[in-house]
Amino acid sequence: MLSGPSGVGKGTVVAEVRRRHPDVWVSVSATTRRPRPGEVPGVHYHFVTDEEFDRLIATDGLLEWAEYAGNRYGTPVAPLQARLESGAPALLEIELQGARQVRDRAPDAQLVFLAPPSWAELVSRLAGRGSEPEAVQQARLAIAQAELDAAGEFDVVVVNDDVARAADELVGLLTAPSPGLHQGSGAHE
Ligand code: 5GP
Repeated sequence: MLSGPSGVGKGTVVAEVRRRHPDVWVSVSATTRRPRPGEVPGVHYHFVTDEEFDRLIATDGLLEWAEYAGNRYGTPVAPLQARLESGAPALLEIELQGARQVRDRAPDAQLVFLAPPSWAELVSRLAGRGSEPEAVQQARLAIAQAELDAAGEFDVVVVNDDVARAADELVGLLTAPSPGLHQGSGAHE
């Protein structure tokens, strides 16, 4: 599962994973946000109404969910479960509140934190996003700082210094045996 501060490029890295490694299964989240140009329903997100999202929560249809910038996002549990039961890895791209829920509910999940190459780089990426007022940019930076502080909660940190390299490293982690799998109990056979 991939998380990290806003502006670090999680979406870009996952798009690169899809492009370079089409065999990797990426969980499609449900969201109440409107589609952006070029986003395909069922591929990038399941775009749902507020009522549909309420129903997903009420029926335990989501592994985790969180509100982010005025919209709700969540991981549909059924397709993920089916995938994991077949023994194959799955990639989730979610923000921090959701990552913490996954950590609590699925302790075996490998939590990967995508970090910017430097704080200065993150500041310039966040500022470069648009023509937002200074106060909004400052608020985003404060959030990003708090998010960066969460890196220690994760199993692995991948630095997004180069999108293709970060995507390959992420896929390598996905396909490597889980670190917990081969640890014996310490008892002799
Ligand atoms: P965006 O609107 O830019 O596509 O996504 C906004 C944020 O929501 C990103 O940080 C993204 O990682 C996060 N996100 C996308 N899907 C999910 C999800 O299913 N659960 C959670 N908790 N966050 C998500």
